[in-house]
Amino acid sequence: MKIRAAIRANHLLRPALRRSTVTGACGNLHAVDSTLPPSHSPKYETSPFPFIAPVRRKRDAIIVGGGHNGLVAAAYLAKQGLDVLVLERRTLLGGAAVTEEIVHGFKFSRASYLAGLLRPQIITELGLEKHGFKYLPRDPSSFTPTNVAGRHLILGSSEEENWQSIAQFSTRDADAFVEYEDFLGKARELVEPLLDGGPPNPFDQAAKWKERRHTLQTLKTLLSAGWKHRQSLLPFYELFTAPAAHLLDRWFESDILKATLATDAVIGAMIGPRQAGSAYVLLHHVMGEAAGRKGVWAYVEGGMGAISKSIAEAAKAWGAEVVTSATVTRLVYDDAQKRIAGVEMQDGTR
Ligand SMILES: Cc1cc2nc3c(=O)[nH]c(=O)nc-3n(C[C@H](O)[C@H](O)[C@H](O)COP(=O)(O)OP(=O)(O)OC[C@H]3O[C@@H](n4cnc5c(N)ncnc54)[C@H](O)[C@@H]3O)c2cc1C
Repeated sequence: MKIRAAIRANHLLRPALRRSTVTGACGNLHAVDSTLPPSHSPKYETSPFPFIAPVRRKRDAIIVGGGHNGLVAAAYLAKQGLDVLVLERRTLLGGAAVTEEIVHGFKFSRASYLAGLLRPQIITELGLEKHGFKYLPRDPSSFTPTNVAGRHLILGSSEEENWQSIAQFSTRDADAFVEYEDFLGKARELVEPLLDGGPPNPFDQAAKWKERRHTLQTLKTLLSAGWKHRQSLLPFYELFTAPAAHLLDRWFESDILKATLATDAVIGAMIGPRQAGSAYVLLHHVMGEAAGRKGVWAYVEGGMGAISKSIAEAAKAWGAEVVTSATVTRLVYDDAQKRIAGVEMQDGTR
């Protein structure tokens, strides 16, 4: 069996794509030493259904895993005219961005629950709204109760209302919060130029002119943001490296505000607020961008699975084939071509 496939995860999101023409006969192929994590691992729920191999095996690109990132890659590749196959081991697409009926009759965003880091141009370029994607901005963004009836902290989009709510606990904190948000906003300006492309590498002699241009543009934007906020570079360094508790203790005095903000530092990070690096996660609070508003996070109509579904629909509309209950166990290496040339499935299909 001949396999034409390309698994180039690090290149998948680049818009300028070249058609891959790797073709290898089985005799040239061997499985790479590093197999993928065993699918029977109890950590993962396996599909109760058998894998049904797609009729066409030769592909320009095979994406292992139908999480939202894999689906985005698939959609962009298919949009560029490549013949794309997505293989997802679960019965459901989306990875950590899924909507599932955990309790009978009720659907939940099972893992991730809030969107804001999905780049706006992806929504536009893939036409996700046409496929059912819709943000539901959340406001207020947090509610922290106390054990005193009627006394609670609510934070949302209104600066004035935030001030009033925080001032119940500390007017000093209410004033500081405005500056704190401003400080994170500046840090955002520094990071944002890095979000939409590969990291710039000015020392890459082999880079093509397009990559060099990208590097120069990114460095220029970074330098001008760095110069603009030069007074804050030291606090930025702390933000990227220190424990969140250090930072919050310096900015604020009220426990309720610090505890509320600390959730931004630990959520999904598997670390505590006193661990180094947790302050950086605070930045995610302002890195979000939803419904055209910077610093805003939003729910998604239909739960987080609706994001994955809309991306999958976009990919399929451009011709990608998406197969579920499809566990990949090995990447197959082509010795002659010195590159990955295909995949091996749990049932041995290549
Ligand atoms: C509990 C939790 C809460 C989170 N909350 C948020 C949030 O609110 N907002 C937010 O923006 N981010 C959140 N995140 C992070 C975010 O969900 C992830 O960063 C994102 O889902 C990663 O997407 P992905 O496509 O790269 O990988 P995944 O979502 O992990 O998808 C990988 C996919 O590949 C499949 N797969 C893996 N191995 C194989 C194989 N061998 N063969 C076939 N298929 C395979 C998996 O089944 C899965 O579907 C959260 C993460 C967790 C765990």
